[in-house]
Amino acid sequence: MTTKTLTITEDLQQYLMETGVREPAVLNQLREVTATLRGAQMQISPEQGQFMRFLIQILNAKNILEIGTFTGYSSICMAMELPADGQLIACDLPGESNDIARDFWKKAGVEDKISFRLEGALAVLDELLTEDNNHGRFDFAFIDADKKSYDAYYEKCLKLLRPGGIIAIDNMLWSGRVVNAANDDDQTQALDALNRKIHKDTRVFPSLVPIADGLMLARKI
Ligand code: CA
Repeated sequence: MTTKTLTITEDLQQYLMETGVREPAVLNQLREVTATLRGAQMQISPEQGQFMRFLIQILNAKNILEIGTFTGYSSICMAMELPADGQLIACDLPGESNDIARDFWKKAGVEDKISFRLEGALAVLDELLTEDNNHGRFDFAFIDADKKSYDAYYEKCLKLLRPGGIIAIDNMLWSGRVVNAANDDDQTQALDALNRKIHKDTRVFPSLVPIADGLMLARKI
């Protein structure tokens, strides 16, 4: 027993996969395809996908924002849990991963729930913010893109989120590098600064969850 978070050994990771994750075959297949690509480590882990599905379920989410789609693993997890009339707006830059995401959305039967925006996410969020009825419309936002823009994504998503909605921000423990951010690069410093900002941010109730590379959850008050 311990009052600290466990160190996850390879054996324990295997056990976690066996007993803590129900991964549909289509997502397993997507992991195999993604593993051959450059940037394969950008894919979220299966236990994180399971956790995000759980969050979408308990929120009864209907409208979701995703900043950073890559080959589509996280978007499939979230879209699977949306009702038929739910919508996920997925933002990414044009690249070789786009077609894989589209292909697997079809395979997973979620393509009708996803609107793909292939441009800078800040522009997409700004466009959404120009319409008053988008303010407070979204139940969930997942941020997993360029780290130096995280703070800007967070601020814009917070405006688009309803009270009680959740922003989930990926890689917030950054392989542990955040503990020595002052001596590290500007991506690490940006992540550390955002962790510290959210810790004090009275607009949200935070929980920094040490799953995978660290998932910051901020629930809008
Ligand atoms: Ca990530």
